[in-house]
Amino acid sequence: MRTIYRSIFLISLLLIGCSKSDDIENELNNGNYPIKQQVGYSANDILSNKNFTDIYIEVMYVEGFKPSAETLTNLEDFIESRTYKTNIVIEERLINISTKSIYSMDDVRSIEDANRSVFSFENQLTISALFLNGKSSSDTEKTTILGTSYRNTSFVIFEETIQEGSNDIFEPSKVTLESTVILHEFCHLLGLVNLGSRMVTNHEDPEHSAHCSNENCLMYYLIESGQMPPWMRSEQIPELDANCINDLRANGGK
Ligand SMILES: [Zn+2]
Ligand SMILES: [Zn+2]
Repeated sequence: MRTIYRSIFLISLLLIGCSKSDDIENELNNGNYPIKQQVGYSANDILSNKNFTDIYIEVMYVEGFKPSAETLTNLEDFIESRTYKTNIVIEERLINISTKSIYSMDDVRSIEDANRSVFSFENQLTISALFLNGKSSSDTEKTTILGTSYRNTSFVIFEETIQEGSNDIFEPSKVTLESTVILHEFCHLLGLVNLGSRMVTNHEDPEHSAHCSNENCLMYYLIESGQMPPWMRSEQIPELDANCINDLRANGGK
């Protein structure tokens, strides 16, 4: 009998950056929407149609690490099902950067700053989604970072790590793994868990902040070693549980 020791972790580091609480009420739609606030800051703006009716996702990828079209369709469907956005646009763009084999979060922020080209304006809120080669500098022997949401409208996906952890025997398909990670990161931007969307019922994992205590939920913080979590054996993308959905609804979502 063979034992598979490969470990894949769905982990997101929530980098709580310094944030300044500006009085921006009147500047939301004039191009000055803040993009360097902490994760969860824009939850209501993404969920509701109060300040923005439309959403634009700028997908920037490094050559060879473009996300699957099916994954982006899954993201679009998810946004449609959980937010009140009328128009959802997802566009992909190849970026030319001097690639590294390991990226720190400072590197990731710099890449966004140098390449992001679409900003919230008038009725459209924008999100920056980076797809990189290489790996996260936070990877260890035991944990592998697949994605990280790091600012109020920004997340990064370590696409090479996803490719390495998928489409092999005992591994999920690339689309399943990729979709799972993207939706998980996007949900952090929606303020889950207890990260900008107030909890209706307490369900935050006491040991892993900003994650759900339900192990079947999309927002579960998965740590495993030597044992595959149930969803990874199947082709099914985990869904949000009732507690997480209730939090989104209470903060302007569906
Ligand atoms: Zn997470
Ligand atoms: Zn949940």
